[in-house]
Formats: sequence, structure tokens, C-alpha cells
Amino acid sequence: MKVDVAIVGGGIAGLSCALYTAQAELNTVVLDTGKSQLKPISMVYNYPGFDEGISGEELLSKMKKQADRFNASRIEEEVVKVEKEGGVFKVRTDNSEIEARYLVIASNLDTRPLEDMNLPVEVNPLVPSGKIKQVPGLPWNGATEIENLYVAGLLAGLPTQSIIAAGQGAAVGMAIVSKEKGKPHVWHDK
Ligand SMILES: Cc1cc2nc3c(=O)[nH]c(=O)nc-3n(C[C@H](O)[C@H](O)[C@H](O)COP(=O)(O)OP(=O)(O)OC[C@H]3O[C@@H](n4cnc5c(N)ncnc54)[C@H](O)[C@@H]3O)c2cc1C
Repeated sequence: MKVDVAIVGGGIAGLSCALYTAQAELNTVVLDTGKSQLKPISMVYNYPGFDEGISGEELLSKMKKQADRFNASRIEEEVVKVEKEGGVFKVRTDNSEIEARYLVIASNLDTRPLEDMNLPVEVNPLVPSGKIKQVPGLPWNGATEIENLYVAGLLAGLPTQSIIAAGQGAAVGMAIVSKEKGKPHVWHDK
């Protein structure tokens, strides 16, 4: 399978990123094991737009439907290896291999894809539990020093709240689309 954009991790940040790249007609696939940290939260009261709160599971379900609406593909499998060969990213699960021109790592608790790409990893000091890592020194749009490789979500060094992960995921998507177009991307609905 060959795609424009492969996203490892379909939690808050990965799905938000997928919405933006898929809407811009970049062939986008999200690989996900369904273990977003937000999923078990019975009621989230701090996500703007849901004034009476929303369960983490329902929020993720709505984000999946929104990405699906713009034809993002979703594969519910664990990514076991990522590599870059000849300018193309290879994303492997036990059942499939995907080639992608852009790779977004949004796997939060799982830092293996960062290690596969030899990115430096340290504890994210903005998340008090100490369980979340980050790639130090990334810009807001998650661009790394490796061409076409981006990091989204808490792994990009964000504070803990999900709306921030969603916003940064969108910024990653916008950055990829802007790079493709060669000018700043704008999505304005009528
Ligand atoms: C107990 C708790 C309560 C919280 N409560 C709130 C709250 O009330 N409000 C709030 O705003 N935030 C809350 N948060 C924080 C919120 O969960 C995070 O901000 C948000 O989930 C971060 O988004 P993310 O996309 O970076 O990671 P996640 O949403 O965790 O998504 C990462 C995704 O990557 C997938 N993945 C990982 N490795 C792989 C792999 N190798 N292959 C394929 N897929 C993979 C996982 O299955 C997961 O779906 C809470 C967190 C915790 C721990």
C-alpha cells in the first residue's frame, strides 16, 4: 500500500492531523491500537465545544467519523517498525507494509517509532506523571530534522490537555499540506 501520509497513532492528535491532510486530498492512513489515554475517561469537561462534557470514547469516535468523512483510511493494527529508505517511509505491522512520503508519529506512550527513527527522547517536563516522553526542541508544527517526518501530540512536548494535542495535530496536518502546495494552506468552509 502506498500513501501520501502515514500516521502512527490514532488518538487525539493523530486523528486531528488526519482530518486536515485527508481534507486536502492527501492519501492518508492512520494506524492505531485503540489505546488513547483519553478513551477510558468517563467525562471530559474541558474540551471546548462540548459544554456538557463528552466521554473520551465518544470524542474519539466523533473524531474518527470526521476523518472518515474526508476519506482517511484507518487500520487497527500495531506498528512494529518504521524506517526510511530512499526518501520513503516504510511502516510495518505484522500484517502489512505501507510506504509513505510523509510520516507522523503520534503514538504518545509508545516511543518505539521515535527510537526507530533515531530521534532523541526525554521525559516531557510539562506532564507531571513523568510517564510521557518528548522529542526535545520541536517547533509547534512538529517538524523534525528528518525530511517529511513529524511528531504530533504529547510526544511533541505539549502540556497534558487533549485540546492542545488536537490543535497541535491540526498544525502538523496544515504544515504537511502547506509543504505539498508550496504555500500556506488555508481551510475555510462556506
Ligand atoms: C488518567 C488521565 C486522565 C486524563 N483526563 C483528561 C481530561 O479530562 N481532559 C483532557 O483534556 N485531557 C486529559 N488527559 C490527557 C489526554 O489523554 C491527552 O492529552 C491526549 O490523549 C493526548 O493525545 P495524543 O494523541 O498525544 O495521545 P493518545 O490520545 O494517547 O493517542 C495515542 C494513540 O497511539 C496509539 N498507538 C501507540 N503506539 C502505537 C503503535 N505502535 N501502533 C499503532 N498505534 C499506536 C494508541 O493506541 C493511541 O490510540 C488525561 C490523561 C490521563 C492519563
